[in-house]
Amino acid sequence: MYIFGFSTNYIRVKTVPLTHVACTHCHHKGLVEMTLLQEEQDGVVTQRLNKLSATVTCTSCNQSISKNNWRPEITAAFNAAVATVKLTTSVKFSKQGKRVIGIFLGCIVFVVEIFAADKLGILKNSGKQAYEIGSDHTEQYIRHPQSGDICQVGIFDAHAGANAEGKYTLFKIVTTDKANNTIVMIPHTGQVASPNDFGGLSIDAGSFDAAHPETFVLKEFEYHHFKKENEGSGGIARNIYSIKRPAK
Ligand SMILES: [Zn+2]
Repeated sequence: MYIFGFSTNYIRVKTVPLTHVACTHCHHKGLVEMTLLQEEQDGVVTQRLNKLSATVTCTSCNQSISKNNWRPEITAAFNAAVATVKLTTSVKFSKQGKRVIGIFLGCIVFVVEIFAADKLGILKNSGKQAYEIGSDHTEQYIRHPQSGDICQVGIFDAHAGANAEGKYTLFKIVTTDKANNTIVMIPHTGQVASPNDFGGLSIDAGSFDAAHPETFVLKEFEYHHFKKENEGSGGIARNIYSIKRPAK
């Protein structure tokens, strides 16, 4: 059972001189020797097998005699040598196996830590405003705005020039009227310097200027901006960044 790739290694057990064997290449006699090798498979575990093979080489011409060309006396010498060897087999975790175990234990520790963090409440959205939690539904809300929705808006005054800085604030929807193509909103009393800071504006009812509702054109709304009926195409641009629907 090797989950990952494994390789086969051959471990030298011993070398036996075959003094009575002539080399099949150079025909020298007495200079041929046989090296017995034990097979080892290296995967997740390193396993020494009870399996011997041998290489036969001539020290005169330095060529090896492949098993197909073994003469009967070489085969006999091999069988005799095998009989004298007592192999020890072993199984131990390889470097790769230790790595696999390490990764496995690491995963367990990670999962345990997640559960622990969850129990401790670290994963909860503590400190965030209710309307920040959950996925963004702006595209849905922008087509079907409802009373109570909070729009994150950047306001730019075209007359102030291209370099004029925008201001960023919230508008809360009071009512929408499809028949009359109007949407009434109340502005937030505060503003922030960057669209990254919308979260710094409180969404408490008291933070909106309920005494000064403004009426805008509903049809414009779904194009991510809105304007008043009598405003031209220049002038003030109010761009909607995002819409949040506070949980009731
Ligand atoms: Zn030889």
